[in-house]
Amino acid sequence: MNMREYIEEAESVLLHTYNRYQIVFDKGEGVFLYDMEGKRYLDFVAGIAVFALGYHNEEYDNALKGQIDKLIHTSNYFYNVPAVNAARKLKEVSGMDRVFFTNSGAEAVEGAIKAARKYAFLKDGRTDHEIIAMNHSFHGRTMGALSVTGNPKYREAFEPMIGNIRFAELNDMESVLGQVTDKTCAIIMETVQGEGGLRPAKENFLKEVKALCEERDILLILDEIQCGMGRTGYMYAWQRYGVKPDIMTTAKALGCGVPVGAFLMTEKVGKSSLAAGDHGTTYGGNPLACAAIEKVLDLFEKNHIIEHVREVTPYLEERLEELMGRHGCILERRGMGLMQGLVFDRPVGDMIHAAMERGLVIINAGSNMIRLVPPLIISKENIDEMIEILDDSIGS
Ligand SMILES: *Cc1c(COP(=O)(O)O)cnc(C)c1O
Repeated sequence: MNMREYIEEAESVLLHTYNRYQIVFDKGEGVFLYDMEGKRYLDFVAGIAVFALGYHNEEYDNALKGQIDKLIHTSNYFYNVPAVNAARKLKEVSGMDRVFFTNSGAEAVEGAIKAARKYAFLKDGRTDHEIIAMNHSFHGRTMGALSVTGNPKYREAFEPMIGNIRFAELNDMESVLGQVTDKTCAIIMETVQGEGGLRPAKENFLKEVKALCEERDILLILDEIQCGMGRTGYMYAWQRYGVKPDIMTTAKALGCGVPVGAFLMTEKVGKSSLAAGDHGTTYGGNPLACAAIEKVLDLFEKNHIIEHVREVTPYLEERLEELMGRHGCILERRGMGLMQGLVFDRPVGDMIHAAMERGLVIINAGSNMIRLVPPLIISKENIDEMIEILDDSIGS
């Protein structure tokens, strides 16, 4: 079958929950993707901030192949070596104490919510605890994660959500204080908002929220699913400010393509929240997924990924600022590190199609914003090529 025929069949067999671009990708190499017709695309999406190390990384591929030949799955009734190694390494890079592996980001958020509620329940026995989340946030599509997602458009048709969620404004301490009650058990936010428009939490705001949490024994949950794993020039974005969460979620680039996530917590939460029988997953933390995490964390260190992000970020920012200077229709640049957004005075759909025609894969975040979340290994040359294509695509 040719590309067009696959697309037609896809539309007849898959549930239509995405308006997909008319491309079938067939293989990847480094920062490039190739469609079924052999056309090359420079990739500034990385499978939505997933493929940090680029495609077809030989060491990563071999680690997976090796694990496939050995053992793929055991269940959580037993221990397995890759899970222990992955957890140890994740602890080291995050500074958190306890790890629970999941199969996706949304599930990591679900686990974080359960851990926070259980922690509060053990303290006072109440079952009406509240969680404060942020407007414009995105935490995933399962019911719990959706309930703390600050975008009514995603929630409306699926009401009722889980109860007792209140929303505040990111970077507005007054609005957070206005939602705090004696029932508040947790405050959840993305350290840098992703889908909701690439808005970083400000240092002062984070510090004030953290101080409030400490004062009232409220748990701070930071969702690092998109902004974590080196994307901002820090393994986890909160490390830039030293505002350590009580519970943290991570996923996307954690497995670099193998579906995996995790929620982590401090010992304080770990020893008085989820206990045996409280939470589980059949697949979570299986040997194949954990072999991927283990290798990803090894390669981050060995290939100096974070140092590389810090090196190319100023160049990317400079080139984006230049682009803004040339095009009045770009109103603002937002983001941090290799997580950048350009806000336009118009919908960006046509621009994205034009860029794809010219061999550049980019996506939006909201209707008027272009989002750039490339593999973390992009070079200055790749940035130049991206800018050139984007430059041509604007206004077309
Ligand atoms: C993508 C994302 C999620 C959801 O992760 P899935 O793996 O799609 O379930 C949650 N939070 C943030 C910040 C994300 O970017």
